[in-house]
Amino acid sequence: MKKIVVILWSICLLQLSVFCYGPKGHSLVGAIADIKLRENKKAMAKVTELLDGLTLEKVANWADIIKGWDDCGGEPRQTKLWASERINLEFRAFVAANKCDSEFDHHQYHYTDVPITGKEKYKDGKIGRSDKDIVHMIAYCIRVLGNKEPQPNPRAITKTVAIVLLAHYLGDIHQPLHVGAEYFDAKGEPFTPSYGNKGFADQGGNKLTLYLFVDGKTKAMSQEKFHSYWDSKIFTAAYGETPISEIAAAMAPVEPKQWKLTGNPDSLAEQMANEILPIAREAHSRLAYSKVEIDEKSNDIIKGRATEKQVSGQESYAIWSQRIVKDEINKAGWRLSAILTALFK
Ligand SMILES: [Zn+2]
Repeated sequence: MKKIVVILWSICLLQLSVFCYGPKGHSLVGAIADIKLRENKKAMAKVTELLDGLTLEKVANWADIIKGWDDCGGEPRQTKLWASERINLEFRAFVAANKCDSEFDHHQYHYTDVPITGKEKYKDGKIGRSDKDIVHMIAYCIRVLGNKEPQPNPRAITKTVAIVLLAHYLGDIHQPLHVGAEYFDAKGEPFTPSYGNKGFADQGGNKLTLYLFVDGKTKAMSQEKFHSYWDSKIFTAAYGETPISEIAAAMAPVEPKQWKLTGNPDSLAEQMANEILPIAREAHSRLAYSKVEIDEKSNDIIKGRATEKQVSGQESYAIWSQRIVKDEINKAGWRLSAILTALFK
């Protein structure tokens, strides 16, 4: 049995590698928030009660794990979390209400695709945004926790589900490729999409292979896609194999710059999206695109290359991106804790 569990977990982790901050990045966001949450005993007690004693670190990857519960992309997988029966029942109801072949597909809740050309903010246009994107879903979860949505609701988001989703989505919205996207025309050239010609989004870089300048040569990042480089590879480069608990203990006491958000709780996700957009622009503008192949029949990019531009005197992409990831993960952890504290204090 143990062997089966280990194999299933490994499959989950392999599956996860192309989505979101990898498991370690999300766990670290949760672990930092767990430490910060201790500063308010009432809020911490409420979160612990809703999670049946589990920590934010433990639940931060569940929103990815349950992507394997739908059968739209192949064989359905194990539908059990390492949690109480109550929590498992709530998550099965959530997946059933937000199935991958339904209008509200929970696989889409992790990102938005704001075009990175120009200086558009989230609200300045509609291309790449929807009422089931990460900005709307973070706001929805906050409303559930603040008793501003009915219980039960059509999306089957209980307070427990809302905390678990927030613990994950806060990590995602601090990953630049989850918010900004490059768009290509039918010839595979980067362009500015319009309502008349929306072109093809790079899906957060999931279809492009990244080539970086390393040791004087341009190298493919171990066949890594541009997106998974940001999700997983940078994390390993930045932290090595140091245990999450040690990294979190070192990071949590360091207050991130300009992390505080103000205003209506409904506007917080939009503020976070607008804040990361300039970084998403830089994550793309430091690269040159080539050999981008489009399949107009399936309305999709098949493959392409994103290669680091060599600019003398400029910090390398690898060093720059590691610094960004460290800052953003700490900010995500502090903000997750602050949102939950404001709701439950
Ligand atoms: Zn995600």
